[in-house]
Amino acid sequence: MEKTQFKAESKRLLDMMINSIYSQKEIFLRELISNASDAIDKIYYEALTDDSLRFDQDSYFIKVATDKENRTLKISDTGIGMTKEELETNLGTIANSGSLAFKTENESKDGHDIIGQFGVGFYSSFMVADVLTVISKALGSDSAYKWESTGADGYTIEPYEKDVVGTEITLKIKENTEDENYDEYLEEYRLKAIIKKYSDFIRYPIKMDVTEN
Ligand code: ADP
Ligand code: MG
Repeated sequence: MEKTQFKAESKRLLDMMINSIYSQKEIFLRELISNASDAIDKIYYEALTDDSLRFDQDSYFIKVATDKENRTLKISDTGIGMTKEELETNLGTIANSGSLAFKTENESKDGHDIIGQFGVGFYSSFMVADVLTVISKALGSDSAYKWESTGADGYTIEPYEKDVVGTEITLKIKENTEDENYDEYLEEYRLKAIIKKYSDFIRYPIKMDVTEN
């Protein structure tokens, strides 16, 4: 399959994320959960104006699931989902100029939580993952798609099977290195602590599903 290249500015941010200078790698989870919550907000607002849709509180939630054997962490939501075009535009470009402002103004400072003040967003997952896979089905669409990227070398998109509307993001967690522990992002207690620290205010339920192998 042919790979599509990221836009130049997206590539810069990606490089930064991959060779992260940032010590608080854990914020990737905050970013993914906040995106999931935004997506549920969107389907909620759709339901307000579309009588054919009912917003049943119980069917809207965020799920965090780990699989230690396969080193995967999956964040799924029952939000509005993304069409093929939205996967291209939203995940192939940096919409948020704040991320770029961070890079240019603070490159040489060692400000600890500077990055945290900006919506670094989706790409921050590359701080902890080698591969990102996004499977999404948009509200009102019959087809679903799989977006996949190993980082700076671009991404692929292909049709995929998904029954329910929403998005499923799978992170292939990096192997530990001498100076960096990534296994912790597969540990339930650690993930719970990160969620408590940054995502306590999220108004949809965050469920946890742990597979011990
Ligand atoms: P931001 O949230 O600041 O817009 P992100 O990099 O976090 O930037 O996300 C980029 C865009 O990708 C979002 O604006 C949204 O359109 C889309 N997106 C990301 N995650 C999801 C998701 N779980 N469901 C639907 N759309 C998403
Ligand atoms: Mg975001």
